[in-house]
Amino acid sequence: MSLLAKRTQQIDSSGIRRVFELARTMKDPINLSIGQPDFDVPNAVKSAAIGAIENGNNSYTPTNGIVPLREQLIADEKAFTGRDYSLEQMLVTSGVSGGLFLSLLALVDEGDEVIIPDPYFVMYKHLVNLNGGTPVYLDTYEDGFSINADKLAALITPKTKILLLNSPGNPTGRIFSTTELQAIANVCDKHGVLIITDEIYREFAYAPMQSIAQFTDNCLLLGGYSKSFGMTGWRLGYAAGPKEIIEAMAMLQQYSFVCAPSVAQYAALACPQTDMSLQLSDYAIKRDVMFDALSSHFEVGAADGAFYLFAKVPEGHTGSSFTELAIKNNVLIIPGNVFSERDTHFRVCYTVPNEKLLAGAKILCSLTG
Ligand code: PMP
Repeated sequence: MSLLAKRTQQIDSSGIRRVFELARTMKDPINLSIGQPDFDVPNAVKSAAIGAIENGNNSYTPTNGIVPLREQLIADEKAFTGRDYSLEQMLVTSGVSGGLFLSLLALVDEGDEVIIPDPYFVMYKHLVNLNGGTPVYLDTYEDGFSINADKLAALITPKTKILLLNSPGNPTGRIFSTTELQAIANVCDKHGVLIITDEIYREFAYAPMQSIAQFTDNCLLLGGYSKSFGMTGWRLGYAAGPKEIIEAMAMLQQYSFVCAPSVAQYAALACPQTDMSLQLSDYAIKRDVMFDALSSHFEVGAADGAFYLFAKVPEGHTGSSFTELAIKNNVLIIPGNVFSERDTHFRVCYTVPNEKLLAGAKILCSLTG
């Protein structure tokens, strides 16, 4: 008999494992699979982290996070969404992953349905399953990866509890427009469905970006510093929303993560004084370079944000078979079925120097013939 709990069987990581096994055979790959920016933490923030360590800020922090950081986040959210979150409504988490984990643990009961627009960030499906929930997929392929409010409404049942939204999106790069957000909020409010909005890529926006938190109270907002300040390893994120939910998440954090890393929390206080606009505008250029290079040979979805392109594979291929072919030709991409119930696309991350992007795109285009 296995020692492992049944819930471990709810997770299947074989798709991505296979890609990484294949990748290990590659010598010097053009790696278009890295889901983190290629810029480092800015010096001022590094210095703040070193200062925090030297000043002895190395202990546990309050479960909810240090007050100055929560105040900073409240001010940021007031500026972006217009919302006035109170301190009790703001929880500092171990990355957005921590926020996703705690929120779904706090909210999902056995049998609860969670609507996930497909394609989706890999963690969503597995975390819903892990908590005994049922993922219900809203296929967005026919709608240019946008959300059709009628299709959303049609999926709602008495068991529907949550809609998991991600804008700018991984893997599509899609940003939902104001009209779309309003329509989504209306449907969810009408049916009492909570929206969890994952806005980790908010700063990587090459089109107007708004938060759905502007349009409904019924919303838990997740954000973080990982991507925008190149600090994915520092594990810093936050959750803002209804007091009852934040309190439950904090209670669960108390008995799991305890708190987000203290040094990262203190260092993040230097983030507002740090100008990242150069790094971020560099990504807008990368987006253009890669979009132009691929769209001559592939159908590529609108890439309004984040640092991903989601492209349709050529005739006769699945996402998996095309990925294998790309890997044989020294380009590492991720097959669409890692992010989707379909296997018709592949994801490219444009988080590498432009020469590599162009070299990778040239090879990928050559494989379509
Ligand atoms: N949400 C999305 C959509 C992501 O792509 C990622 C990271 N790949 C995360 C959340 C997790 O980010 P963090 O480093 O803040 O845990």
